[in-house]
Amino acid sequence: MLITDAALQTSVPERGGRIGRRLIGQFCLVGLMITIVLSGFFFTNWNQQALLDLREGGRQMRIAQEALMDAEGYVLNKALGDRAVEHSTYSRALEALHSRDAQLAQLDRYLRAPDGTRRSAVAIVKTLETSWTDVLAVAREGRLEEAQALLRERGSAAQVAGLRTAFDRFLVDWNAQFAPHETRIEFGKVFVLLSELLIGAVMIFAFRAGARDARARQAAIGQMDESRTQVGHLFEMTDMLQSAADHHDANAVLRATAGELIKGFGGALYVFNNSRDRLVLSTSWSCEEAGALPETITVNQCWAMKRGKPHINRSGGKALCCEHHATGVAALEIPMTARGENLGLLQIFAYGAEAEARLSDILSLSSALGDAMSLALSNIALREKLRNQALRDPLTGLYNRRYMEDSLDRYVRLAEREGRTVSVIMIDLDHFKRLNDEHGHATGDAVLREAAAAIVGTLRETDVACRYGGEELIVFLPDCDLDDAAIKAEQIRARIEGLSGAHGAQVSASLGVSSVPCTSSTSAELVKAADTALYRAKHNGRNQVALAPMRSGWRGHDGSSDEQASRLAIAAE
Ligand code: GH3
Ligand code: MG
Ligand code: MG
Repeated sequence: MLITDAALQTSVPERGGRIGRRLIGQFCLVGLMITIVLSGFFFTNWNQQALLDLREGGRQMRIAQEALMDAEGYVLNKALGDRAVEHSTYSRALEALHSRDAQLAQLDRYLRAPDGTRRSAVAIVKTLETSWTDVLAVAREGRLEEAQALLRERGSAAQVAGLRTAFDRFLVDWNAQFAPHETRIEFGKVFVLLSELLIGAVMIFAFRAGARDARARQAAIGQMDESRTQVGHLFEMTDMLQSAADHHDANAVLRATAGELIKGFGGALYVFNNSRDRLVLSTSWSCEEAGALPETITVNQCWAMKRGKPHINRSGGKALCCEHHATGVAALEIPMTARGENLGLLQIFAYGAEAEARLSDILSLSSALGDAMSLALSNIALREKLRNQALRDPLTGLYNRRYMEDSLDRYVRLAEREGRTVSVIMIDLDHFKRLNDEHGHATGDAVLREAAAAIVGTLRETDVACRYGGEELIVFLPDCDLDDAAIKAEQIRARIEGLSGAHGAQVSASLGVSSVPCTSSTSAELVKAADTALYRAKHNGRNQVALAPMRSGWRGHDGSSDEQASRLAIAAE
């Protein structure tokens, strides 16, 4: 399709801009998604870390609580006289308490003096330690009762109870802090999962859109390559057509180009005949499936020619079809015009499934093919016209004397070489000067024209009629011997005589006939012999045919003699 398809209708920069914008959009979207996922990830991590910190805080608090219990238990046991308990337990417990001032400080908010003022857990522990040191010193000396009294006096048990209550309250509050973190962690995980799913979906979408763009780009490039090749073929065709000398050459170029450009389609070319009343089949290709094509088509039978627009004849024949169209095959009909003149009809045939759709696809390409061909046909017609103008006589339409002199020699040589005959009839209108004088020059012209037409009407396609000069005409008859030429001359004479009535004037002609090889051997001799015979016909009274005499010593292939020729001549006279 010659640069017509939708993919190519959008320009490349425009499509590039669209793809660029889409890519930027996709990158932004992916960036946003990654930010969301990372936020969810960090949010979850932060909560997990907070939970770990919380757990560690609780563990340290429990260690401190146990250390307090161990220290108090040791002091009580010593005050009661238990010697088995080891001092290392006490010193480890005190060490544990000393290293956990930070944890102990957290108990402060749960510690209130009876007057409502805040108390410091670290200070209480220090007070207890002082009391316990004093009690242990007394107990070491064996004064157990005194040691127990000192414990009571210092209120150690109440202080320890206060601390234990603070520990319990702290642990209750501490337990309550777990749930929100765990909820947030769950939420974060779900959030991350959903974001990942969303990113996956976006990535798939982006990938598919990208793949689609790539495919579209590939298709567009493919189509551009195809178009370039097609344009190349069309250029080549135009170039070749410029060198086409005649219809035969042009048809060969059309067939070759159509075979390359629109493969898988058949085709036919119809051109106007000389009288322009019908289109004649000029050439066809790959038409076996289309059946026998009509040799001629009239303009009235063809919708494309009547409308001056391409027309598709459907294979079913149900829709509007041209009269000349054979059903069973779909055909695209393209009228061919150049320089404002209708020149012919290009037909493209498609076979099989979706034939009409395939024809629509190649419409522009086929039209380009038709345009190139139209121009070529127009050029050929122009060249033929120019050649005719140079070779033909404008009054009678017959070939002129120049053409006659150029070609007669060729005819004679060919006949000689191939052992064939060529005859010549020289014709001169009788008393033409008088006719002009009596009826006017215009009538003379008309008679001359009609005489020429009458002559052409008796001839075969291979015969050539020329205006020799003035009212003298000459006819070559290839492959025609003297006998047949004499008969033909007599027919011409009778026809010219038959023109008499039309203009109220007597019209007649005298004719001389000669032939190669029986009367002459060269073209010059042939014309001279015919002219001499014509002179004899004039001399013998006009309106008659005279034959040139046989060459001396001539004996025909069939044994005919001078005598026979003389008989013919006499008969003609
Ligand atoms: P003959 O029977 O001996 O041939 O007599 P003729 O008058 O035909 O011969 P002649 O050679 O004396 O005169 C030929 C005339 O043909 C002279 C000329 O006026 C006329 N003629 C030649 N060419 C044309 C032409 O193109 N148109 C017209 N109307 N007349 C022409
Ligand atoms: Mg004359
Ligand atoms: Mg004459």
